[in-house]
Amino acid sequence: MTADLQVRDSAVTAVPHRFRIVGAGPTGALLALGLARQGYDVVLIDRLSADSLLKRSRAYAITHSSRRLLQDLCLWLPLKDAMEPFRRLRLDDCAAQRTAWFSLRDLRRENRCADAIGWILDHRPLMSLLLSQLRASPGVSLRLGDAASAEEIALSSGSHEWIVAADGPRSMLRHSSRLAFWSHTYKQGCLTAKLRLSGAEPDCAYELFRPEGPMALLPLGKDAYQVVWSAPLNRCRDRAACSSAELASALDEVLPEGLSVVELLDEPGAFPVELSLAPSLQKGPLLLVGEAGHRCHPVGGQGLNLCWRDVSDLLNLTEAVRQGDLVPRSLARRYSRCRRFDLAGVLLSTDLLIRFFSNHNPLLMPFRRLTLLMLRHLGWVRRLSLSAMTDGPGSFLKPLPK
Ligand SMILES: Cc1cc2nc3c(=O)[nH]c(=O)nc-3n(C[C@H](O)[C@H](O)[C@H](O)COP(=O)(O)OP(=O)(O)OC[C@H]3O[C@@H](n4cnc5c(N)ncnc54)[C@H](O)[C@@H]3O)c2cc1C
Repeated sequence: MTADLQVRDSAVTAVPHRFRIVGAGPTGALLALGLARQGYDVVLIDRLSADSLLKRSRAYAITHSSRRLLQDLCLWLPLKDAMEPFRRLRLDDCAAQRTAWFSLRDLRRENRCADAIGWILDHRPLMSLLLSQLRASPGVSLRLGDAASAEEIALSSGSHEWIVAADGPRSMLRHSSRLAFWSHTYKQGCLTAKLRLSGAEPDCAYELFRPEGPMALLPLGKDAYQVVWSAPLNRCRDRAACSSAELASALDEVLPEGLSVVELLDEPGAFPVELSLAPSLQKGPLLLVGEAGHRCHPVGGQGLNLCWRDVSDLLNLTEAVRQGDLVPRSLARRYSRCRRFDLAGVLLSTDLLIRFFSNHNPLLMPFRRLTLLMLRHLGWVRRLSLSAMTDGPGSFLKPLPK
């Protein structure tokens, strides 16, 4: 049983200079580093040991909003060699039998100099860089292999520190603070696996909309790819449980013509997929960051990038507090307010993509064909959709930072 987390607005009347972050996943670890660079004291807690934190077999699609944050934190160059850029993106509507291609020209001008539409970054090099830099940061106290309890956090909530829940989708802190939370579990789940492919276009990522759910093929270097294959959850579990040869032949049946599986490189995993949002990301000194506050379908590889835009916006506000441009009391509310549009935009658009494309509905087919036709022939439609995917839906009308 966890104690209720009693957090009151009055707890932040004095100026806190310390952050207690629960969860050292990619969101909590990056935030801790950013705060330490600004001169804050940070305690970062995770129930997993450093070794277990590195172990996840997953690759992330990194967008330009994440590139800018990594550059600001001087992490871009150390990670550059571990990242696989892709310069073309192929989008297929398999039921409507239409294809559209995105290229570097479809990026906004400010993004073109980076010479990639996006990058694929493996979990291990990312986490190993974050953990080594955190260990070297004097302001950071790392408590790994140590679960935080609601009682401990409730005690510290009166001690002039901000508490950050970066403890993932099943957040204990969100739950015990009784923050409102909306959640919808999709019937679809997703299967992930790393594999070698033959016949793939060089420098290219694939997003294939199939009636059972979208499938992404993310390049990991040479002929290695990560597949993120959405389908009804039971089907994903059955596929994950079958032999490598059976899974490879099931994949061969659905891959675009010319592509075929050479071999599987890891154990496939099947995961449930959900859409969730805490309408307010704060309560007193408690802030929800990353998947503790929201979750979306993996279509378009938005998940981690959305979490990192939380980090980026929060770091802008903590810097404003440090400079004296924002009163500390307003930090949590300002953070929650400024994340609303981006979160609602991404959650809504990923959900609409799933509803629009994951079916055989003949009534939708003409609209789907028209959408793909527009993407194929109209540069401004491609630019607008790529900008929403890579910079966030809130970026349309704003100039991007240099
Ligand atoms: C199958 C799949 C594919 C994905 N593909 C992509 C992709 O291509 N691109 C992309 O951007 N995103 C992708 N995502 C999403 C991405 O994995 C998540 O957005 C990301 O992991 C969220 O990071 P986080 O740090 O917020 O949470 P998590 O990574 O879940 O980290 C939470 C941490 O909190 C710790 N914790 C929890 N409770 C406690 C406690 N009580 N005390 C101490 N520690 C605690 C956990 O041990 C964990 O380390 C994918 C997700 C899935 C499921």
